[in-house]
Amino acid sequence: MDNIRIKNIKNNFKKIYNRNCTLLYQAPGRVNLIGEHTDYNGGFVLPVAIDRCIAVAAKPNNENILRLHSLDFNNTVSCKLNNIKYDINNGWANYPLAVAKVLQEKGFKIKGADLVFEGNIPQGSGLSSSAAIEVVSCITFASISGLRISKKELPVLCQKAENDFIGVKCGIMDQFVITNAKKNSALFLDCRNLKYQHIPFNNKNISIVIANTKLKRKLVNSAYNERRKQCEEGVKILKYFFKNIKMLRDITTSQFEKYKFNLPSIIRNRCEHVVYENERVINALRLLKKNKINEFGILMNESHESLKNLYEVSCKELDALVYTAQKVEGVLGSRMTGAGFGGCTVTLVKNKYIDKVIKTMTKEYQSKFGIKPEFYISQTENGAGKI
Ligand code: ADP
Ligand code: MG
Repeated sequence: MDNIRIKNIKNNFKKIYNRNCTLLYQAPGRVNLIGEHTDYNGGFVLPVAIDRCIAVAAKPNNENILRLHSLDFNNTVSCKLNNIKYDINNGWANYPLAVAKVLQEKGFKIKGADLVFEGNIPQGSGLSSSAAIEVVSCITFASISGLRISKKELPVLCQKAENDFIGVKCGIMDQFVITNAKKNSALFLDCRNLKYQHIPFNNKNISIVIANTKLKRKLVNSAYNERRKQCEEGVKILKYFFKNIKMLRDITTSQFEKYKFNLPSIIRNRCEHVVYENERVINALRLLKKNKINEFGILMNESHESLKNLYEVSCKELDALVYTAQKVEGVLGSRMTGAGFGGCTVTLVKNKYIDKVIKTMTKEYQSKFGIKPEFYISQTENGAGKI
C-alpha cells in the first residue's frame, strides 16, 4: 500500500476520533487463475492475491463498543459488543460486525475499539472485497483483543461470518487465499482439507490483466445456490456407483465418464464441469511447476469453455471480453473468473502486449455494449497483515 493512502487513513482516523491510531492492517483482493466453482465441491483452486486492498486503522477504546467508520461510504456505525445483530441499515458495517459476532460465538472475548476502513478493491465485481473486509476485520479484532487465531482457522471464521450473518453461501477459497497468499506465487488449495502449497508465479515478463464487465450482478446469488444444489444432486446419484463419494472432488474423470449417462443431462453437465475443472487445476499446477506458462494459458481457455457451455455461468459480456482477449497476440489465456454473470475476466499477457490487449478489449466491448470496461493490471501479492 502506498504512503499517500497510509497517510490519508491515519489523518482521517485522527480527524474522526480525535486521537492517533495505533494499529494498521490490510487485506488484499484476489483473483482465481483456474479452478472455478470447485471450492464448494471440495475441489482444487489456484488463486492469487492482487495489489488492491482494504486497510484498517484502529485503536482500542476501553469501552465495550465497536466504532466502525468507512471512508469510502463516509459513514460511521457504532455497536455495543454485547448486542451485535445483523441490521440492513448498517450496510457495509455488517461485514466487520459479522466477524465480531462469529468470534464471540466461538468463545473469543473481543475488546472495544475504534476503526477506520478504506479500500480500493472494486466492490461487487468478483474480486472479493467482501472477504477482504472480513479478513482485515478479523485480524484487527484479534490483535486488539490479544487473541491467537491460526491462519487456517481465521478464514474459516470469516467464511462462517459471510455464510451465517451476511447470508452468502460462499466457499472457503476467498478468505483462505486472502489470509495465506504469498507474493510471487499462486496458492494451490485443496478445499476439502485446507492443505495448500505456494507455487512460484513470478515470470517478470507476464502480467495478470483483470477486466471488469461493470455489470450489476443480479442473477448471481440464485444461480450460485442452484449450481450448488445441482452438484449435490449429482453426488447423490453417483453414490449408487461409488459408495465413498462425498463430494464431486472424490471422483476422477475416467470414473465419471463411465457412469455419467446415469445423470440427467443438466446435472451431468454441471458435474462434468467440476470433475474436469479439478483435473485442469492439477494439470495447471504441474505445468506451473515446470514453468510451462503457455500451456497453462490453454487450460485457462478450456476452463472458460466449460464454464460457459457446461456450467452455464458466463454471459455475453464476459464472453466478449474473453474471446477478444484470446485473439490478441501475446495473450496466453483468458477466462471469466468468480461466480459469473458479470464481474471480471482474468487474462495472462506478455507485458509488451498489455496496451494492445486493453485497447482491443475496450474497443470491442464498448462498440458491442456501450460500456467502458475497467482494467486492473496486477502482480501477485502477499496476504493480509500489518502495514
Ligand atoms: P465482492 O466480494 O465481489 O467485491 P460483495 O457484494 O460480496 O462483492 O461485497 C461487496 C460489499 O463489501 C460492499 O457492498 C460493502 O458492503 C463491502 N465492502 C467492500 N469494500 C469496502 C470498503 N472499501 N469499505 C467498506 N465496505 C466495503
Ligand atoms: Mg463477495
